[in-house]
Amino acid sequence: MEQFVPQRVFVQKAALAYEKGERLVRKLSSRGIPTEVYERKVPALRYRSAKDKFLALKRTLVIGVWTQRDFQTCRPSAHYQLPLVSGCPGLCEYCYLSTNLGDRPYVRVYVNTAEILAQAQRYTEARRPETTIFEGSATSDPVAVEGWTGSVAEAIAFFARLESAGFRFVTKFTAVDGLLGLDHRGKTEIRFSINSDYVLSHFEKGVPGLERRMEAARKVARAGYPLGLLIAPILLFPGWKDNYLNLLRTAREYLEAALAGPLTFELITHRFTSRAKSVIRQVYPDTELPLEESERQFKYGQFGYGKFVYPAGTMREVEEWFREQISSTFPQSRILYFV
Ligand code: SF4
Repeated sequence: MEQFVPQRVFVQKAALAYEKGERLVRKLSSRGIPTEVYERKVPALRYRSAKDKFLALKRTLVIGVWTQRDFQTCRPSAHYQLPLVSGCPGLCEYCYLSTNLGDRPYVRVYVNTAEILAQAQRYTEARRPETTIFEGSATSDPVAVEGWTGSVAEAIAFFARLESAGFRFVTKFTAVDGLLGLDHRGKTEIRFSINSDYVLSHFEKGVPGLERRMEAARKVARAGYPLGLLIAPILLFPGWKDNYLNLLRTAREYLEAALAGPLTFELITHRFTSRAKSVIRQVYPDTELPLEESERQFKYGQFGYGKFVYPAGTMREVEEWFREQISSTFPQSRILYFV
């Protein structure tokens, strides 16, 4: 899937007062996509099963107005989340959004981007002279809907001009052509989420394959954007070392000649929460994802809920292996974190 085409759209009445909301509805309606206006709560429809509901909501676009006062913090990847989009149409079985969005996994876009960016400016000014980094993909893959909203492009142009601020987001989607000609001034870091063949073929659906992602990564590197690779989730299965080594070599083949600056890596081992496990079991009953609590260590997270991670000894071994392989495959790269 290169560009998400929703099957149904709900639009908040207040969103129609914004030029972006009104334009979006016009565009979607002209494609024959059923659009319904709601006032306060997204209408709840009836479904035959939890799985049907999950899959239908993944194809549903909600157009709304962002009204919360504060941005959420976003460790370790940034200082704050930038709320442009939440949800994602992809169907990765391991998706972390199963914890955040649970049984309401719509793709929701906010139309009051000027107000959201003005709020980002206030946070930045309050922290000066320190630099403040905003993460555009903490609860979404924003590129999946970029062809409809243009919000990522707007944010890139905004942060290019805002002193002491930076923007970053990660994606598995490849509709980046609209971003290539922007005057980004190196203030936005684009990262691509990649994984081993085994993880791609067993657990990822509804997202572009590795080659398409690497081609998109090469394009953004050539357009001068700082580029990163996020390997997540790192899953340990028989033959994982060979599989991940192949991944690093493939990345090198695609990127070596295009990189203008240091490539960054973020490494996130597989983890799951009890809430995510129950969503995954309902929606993907035959999943081969390892979800056995007794094989994991329990750890409290920053948002108050606990998660099951690999045991400490395993984590040390995996971290050492990745650090070694990455520094020999990409000697100029930087590993931002391993968790
Ligand atoms: Fe979740 Fe990312 Fe897959 Fe979307 S692409 S379903 S956000 S893991």
